[in-house]
Amino acid sequence: MVAQWLIERKRDGHALSVAEIHALIRGYADGEIPDYQMAALAMAVFFRGMTTEETAALTDAMLRSGEVLDWTGWARPTADKHSTGGIGDKLSLPLAPLAASAGLAVPMISGRGLGLTGGTLDKLESIPGFNTRLDNDAFRRVVADVGCAIIGQTDRLAPADRKLYALRDVTATVPSIPLITASIMSKKLAEGAASLVLDVKCGRGAFMRNRAQARQLADSLLATGRALGRRMSAVISDMDQPLGRSVGNAVEVAESIDILRGKGPADVRALTLALTAHMTILSGTYPSLAIAQRELAARLDDGRALDVFRRMVAAQGGSAGVVDDPVRHLPCPGATLDVPAPRSGYVTFVDAEQIGRVVLQLGAGRRRTEDVIDPAAGIVKLVQCGDHVAAGEPLMRLQARDHSLVETLCEAAAAAVTLADQPQPRSPLVMEEIT
Ligand code: URA
Repeated sequence: MVAQWLIERKRDGHALSVAEIHALIRGYADGEIPDYQMAALAMAVFFRGMTTEETAALTDAMLRSGEVLDWTGWARPTADKHSTGGIGDKLSLPLAPLAASAGLAVPMISGRGLGLTGGTLDKLESIPGFNTRLDNDAFRRVVADVGCAIIGQTDRLAPADRKLYALRDVTATVPSIPLITASIMSKKLAEGAASLVLDVKCGRGAFMRNRAQARQLADSLLATGRALGRRMSAVISDMDQPLGRSVGNAVEVAESIDILRGKGPADVRALTLALTAHMTILSGTYPSLAIAQRELAARLDDGRALDVFRRMVAAQGGSAGVVDDPVRHLPCPGATLDVPAPRSGYVTFVDAEQIGRVVLQLGAGRRRTEDVIDPAAGIVKLVQCGDHVAAGEPLMRLQARDHSLVETLCEAAAAAVTLADQPQPRSPLVMEEIT
């Protein structure tokens, strides 16, 4: 294989063969193909795109560059969910134990937060002792005993993606649908679950800003997963406004526990139920989405899902007391400040992007991968569309390590909330379901 001939063909708009794509990725992972050639290829793909077959081959080659987990022969059907990430998106925390309580095995491998969107691992690591670095044997043991486990990506998982993503990041080739697809799916499919539900976020607090882009990404992810033999469905969900009333790390663990107690914000509960219902349908557990939602809601309300969460936390070394007394067991902030409403009125909009920026500056997120987060930082008691506030009543509570930080961010936080004299309905949370 001569790399420049393949770059030339892609530059001129032709499709590469499956064998050529595998050879390119193998060569890149082995160091035979240098960064400058891979950067040229990424730019050619950026402008010329890829067919479904090419994208599937790229995904397959990247996932085979590392370890692929195999769950064949397991009694429980394996299933997982992937979210493209949003503000206040803590859904993996209640979803994994809820799905496990309904008989699925959920071997979830998650990422850390970067930029405005938080990461499941950072949230879980705010639970004292919680270990997200289980080795393969321990991971399998927890999934077998509990029904679910949530761990972090190791260097062995899709290493070609790690290398290519770093290159795309500095060569302006991140926003390419086939490259995003192969990047997301290589990591997710390497975890080996038979069924995968996608939550493609759309709006001001998401990677995909509009419905058309979100649909294009969803279609590409679905086609690729199906081409590689997985059962797939997708939900496009609104991310113009944050999910729930808590945004951060420890504060999102506490809100997830509320959801697992059958309480918590209605939007978080509704989306958790919708996505978990799709996982059970793909796995053949229930005959319809309506029945699945009803059965799963009962598992949130009667504590069966909470019990699985408690066992998962204990099996991964976390302080199980967190489930019964989150306030005592989760880290406390150094300072808090209530943000007063500048006038009375109905909340008609909460800007997810602005909330994301405030939370990042409060210390709950990372600007660069090496940044250290403050697990107690974030926002709680955030108003939602439809709420009524009187002038001076809190719109939200800011939490950070010191008073000067919360005071500095008070104005920016207030600017995220729009108030009006008349209430306005919130736009639908689930914008589209693609089965
Ligand atoms: N998330 C990923 O994992 N990869 C991309 O390319 C974009 C978002």
